[in-house]
Amino acid sequence: MPAAAAALTMAGRAHVDERPVYLDNAATTAVDPRVAAAMAECLTEEGVYGNPSSSTHRYGREAAQCVEAARHEVAALIGAAPDCIVFTSGATEASNLALLGTARANADRRRHLVSARTEHRATLDPLRQLEREGFTTSWVETDGAGRVTPAALRAALRPDTLLVSLMHVNNETGAVQDIAAFGALCREAGVLFHCDLAQAVGKLPTTGAAAWVDFGSFTAHKIHGPKGIGALYVSPAARPWLRPVTFGGGQERGLRSGTLPTHQIAGFGRACALAAAEGAADAERMAALRAALWEALRQLPGVLLNGPAEGGSPAILNLSFEGVEGESLVTALTDVAVSTGSACSSASGEPSYVLRALGRDTGLAQSSLRFSLGRYTSRRDIERAADAVCRAVTRLRSVAP
Ligand SMILES: *Cc1c(COP(=O)(O)O)cnc(C)c1O
Repeated sequence: MPAAAAALTMAGRAHVDERPVYLDNAATTAVDPRVAAAMAECLTEEGVYGNPSSSTHRYGREAAQCVEAARHEVAALIGAAPDCIVFTSGATEASNLALLGTARANADRRRHLVSARTEHRATLDPLRQLEREGFTTSWVETDGAGRVTPAALRAALRPDTLLVSLMHVNNETGAVQDIAAFGALCREAGVLFHCDLAQAVGKLPTTGAAAWVDFGSFTAHKIHGPKGIGALYVSPAARPWLRPVTFGGGQERGLRSGTLPTHQIAGFGRACALAAAEGAADAERMAALRAALWEALRQLPGVLLNGPAEGGSPAILNLSFEGVEGESLVTALTDVAVSTGSACSSASGEPSYVLRALGRDTGLAQSSLRFSLGRYTSRRDIERAADAVCRAVTRLRSVAP
């Protein structure tokens, strides 16, 4: 141990060597060692390093087999046929492909889109781009917990509506939407349905998803896989409506050109297989820990729950602490890694647009923290975090003007 650290330990600050409790799993998760092992097999000279598109030799064919095995695992997690999966760099690219690709392919027929203001920026920003290209978006209202009612969705549909984009689980509040009802409604109306599944896979049962949506986006790094790999599910019925937005070697049935990253795909496949096998047990454990954290923190005065009281994601707890700046709180919480909102809006320092859309005033939106759990969150993590948050909130309130 370096002398300085030893001196601090001697001074009674044993925790200096302990890493902060990680409760930011909705931003990204640690890679599961079993995923890392699957990836490592594709990263050495002895391993599977061929180009999966090179069918003329054994190296390429081995890599293609590895990719196709992973495609089966990825597809199975959402109940899809393997040939409906298009590998992308993540959920952002998947949503961009679904939204830009269908809109641009059908601009001469239909120019109306439907979504909600509580969506992730990976949906909102492509929709804004499409508005610049002459499309119109109707924004469906959500209830106070962030849910869109099927009635509100039905009212937003028009004869010229091309596509609805609504997420399954909100990344800031954990609100869960009834995507089966949305899917049925869209099908009845002859409208395409894109769903951001990024926070749903691995936390909720999702093997029904492919039956309800036309397009589904998800990403490996939210389920203990690597960053930089994800997928778009494209239903057979929706395929004719979609055109690529990038062009090149014609991989992924022409929808996403570029050399397939075998190691990333192998890791994604393993992460999906683990989520399918262990997701229900993970979710049960997370739900109990989330409840314990909420139980401990609600003992503080002036704590408000953002999102649904029941039926939300087991992995997300979003709270507002009256009279405390969220930014000051995250800074004070040196022993807990949390965020004030999504990783993207935290960077801008703006109050969360998701919480504003739910009707929280700027003050309360600015005093919020998102705690998010993962496979490795332990009871001790929750106890440490609850203790640290209670102390920080009490101290910040005592020094507030
Ligand atoms: C993380 C996330 C995304 C973006 O995923 P990337 O892998 O970063 O592209 C999109 N939507 C939701 C709901 C997310 O949580």
